[in-house]
Amino acid sequence: MIDVHCHLTEEPLYGSLSRILEEAKVSGVASLITSGIGFEDCLKALEVADRKYVFASLGIEPYALENYEKVMELIMRSRDRIVAVGEVGLDYYWGGRETRETQVRVFREFIELAKTLDLPIVVHSRSAGRYALDVLIESGAERVVMHAFDGSAGEAVRGAERGFFFSIPPSVVRSEQKQKLVKRVGLENMLLESDAPVLGPERGVVNTPSNIRISAETIARLKKIPFENVVEKTTENAKNIFNI
Ligand SMILES: [Zn+2]
Repeated sequence: MIDVHCHLTEEPLYGSLSRILEEAKVSGVASLITSGIGFEDCLKALEVADRKYVFASLGIEPYALENYEKVMELIMRSRDRIVAVGEVGLDYYWGGRETRETQVRVFREFIELAKTLDLPIVVHSRSAGRYALDVLIESGAERVVMHAFDGSAGEAVRGAERGFFFSIPPSVVRSEQKQKLVKRVGLENMLLESDAPVLGPERGVVNTPSNIRISAETIARLKKIPFENVVEKTTENAKNIFNI
């Protein structure tokens, strides 16, 4: 299993990073991608990534974009040390200080950057699934991972038809919306993510990467297919899209 999206830089929440990485290995997590959000966090993500077990992806939260140019420069400088751009995208839930127009403009810039650098893009689209897909499709983005997609299953199918991937967090066990999505989107377009420390199986409890096993088990149950098939296919998908 590969955890394609987590935040290992949140070390204080986990107690000990080495312990949760050890637990992940024991649970069958073959590798992880930690996503930096914002300039300082991106620097930490680069530090945490050993590029053997832990890989880095660099981005920024769509609701706090003041340093986004610095993040873009860092991504360019770090091209050979990272496996993706992101998470970046749209957040119409928090919004923060950023207008929707600003979010879309900056998102487009990151999509272009990912294309120029020939890297996949990991997309945050909270309460903005449909809008994020529209921007990606208009921009001709191809290597796309929609992380923790909260839009409708029909919208997810529209993305999957474009070859976009959907990474499924452990919160799928308690989310009817994610269960619907899993039933409709094919395994060829599916990945596993923990999004640790959030989106765990239990609301309000710190999530860790080893819980991607719960994502895989839930996908297997909903699709009525063997667990091993889910692990095999999602691992192959992750290796292909992230080149790891
Ligand atoms: Zn995240």
